Amino acid sequence: ELLPPNISDPGQIARAIYDVEEATATAFDIILEHKMIKSKTRASLIKFIQLLVAHHPSRRCRKGNAEVLVNFDELCPLDMWSSGKVDDVTNNLKEVLHDFQICGEEVPRGYWMFCRGSKNETRGFSCGLWVLMHSLSVRIGDEESQFAFISICDFIHNFFICEDCRQHFYEMCSRVTSPFKKAREFALWLWSAHNEVNERLMKEEASLKTGDPNFPKIIWPPRQLCPSCYLSQGPKDKGSNQIDWDKDEVFKFLVGYYRNTLISLYNET
Ligand code: FAD
Repeated sequence: ELLPPNISDPGQIARAIYDVEEATATAFDIILEHKMIKSKTRASLIKFIQLLVAHHPSRRCRKGNAEVLVNFDELCPLDMWSSGKVDDVTNNLKEVLHDFQICGEEVPRGYWMFCRGSKNETRGFSCGLWVLMHSLSVRIGDEESQFAFISICDFIHNFFICEDCRQHFYEMCSRVTSPFKKAREFALWLWSAHNEVNERLMKEEASLKTGDPNFPKIIWPPRQLCPSCYLSQGPKDKGSNQIDWDKDEVFKFLVGYYRNTLISLYNET
C-alpha cells in the first residue's frame, strides 16, 4: 500500500515543530489582515492565547504569546469598536505583533516543512493548525481539558478563514454534550474529529478532485504507523467509526507523536 511520503517515516513529524510555529504566526497575520477581532470574538482570542502561553510546544511561541497577553488591553482596548478606532488599533496591533515576533525573529518563514504540499495552494496552514491543536491536546492537564476544548472550538469558529471548515468543526463541537474531565478524552475526541473530516474529504476529494494528490486523506494513524492501535483485522474500506480501535494505544501513540517526537528535535536544534 502506497503511503503519503510524510507518514511513511514517523520521524518526519519532528519537522512539524517548524510548521506549528509557522501556523501560529500565520494565524495572527490572517486575524489582523481580515480584521477578525470583534467585540464578540475578543474574549475567545484571549482564551486561545492563554492556552498557547501555557502549552505551545515551541518555547519562543509561548514567550511571544505571553507578551501579547500581558499587553492585550492596551493593544486591543475594549472600547475600540465604540470609539471607531478599529483601523488604528488593527494597524497598531500589526506593528506590535511584528515587534513582539510572536514566534521569534524568523517566523513566519514563508514555507512549510512537514506540511508542505505538492502545490502552493494545498496543505500548509490548515495542516499546521491541526498539528498545533493535536500537540496542545497532549500537553494539557485533566483540569484544563474542558477549557482547551472550548478555546479550540471557539478559536476555529471565530478565526478560521475557511467557512465550510468552521461550520463543520462547530457542528462537531456542538455534538459534545458533557464537559471533558480528562485530557485523554479530549485528545481522543480531537483525533476522532480529525478522522471524521478526513473521512468526509476522502469521499469529496475522490469526486471533486480537490486536495493534494500526493497526500491523499486516510483514516489515521494507518496500521503501518501504529499496528497496536488496531484491535482486529478489518476490511480496508472501513470508516474510522467501524474500526476496532484500541483507544489506550491510540492515546499512547498521540502522546508519542505529538508530544515526545515533536519536542525532541526542537530541543536538539
Ligand atoms: P491534514 O488533515 O491537515 O492533517 C495534518 C497531519 O495530521 C497529517 O499529515 C497527519 O500526519 C496528521 N493526522 C491526520 N489525521 C489525523 C488524526 N485523525 N489525528 C491526529 N493526527 C492526524 N477541509 C475541507 O475541505 N473541508 C472541511 O470541512 C475542513 N475542515 C477543517 C477543520 C479544521 C479544524 C481544520 C484545521 C482543517 C479543515 N479542513 C477542511 C482542511 C483539511 O482538514 C486539511 O487540513 C487539508 O486538506 C490539508 O490536508 P493534509 O493532507 O495536510 O492533512
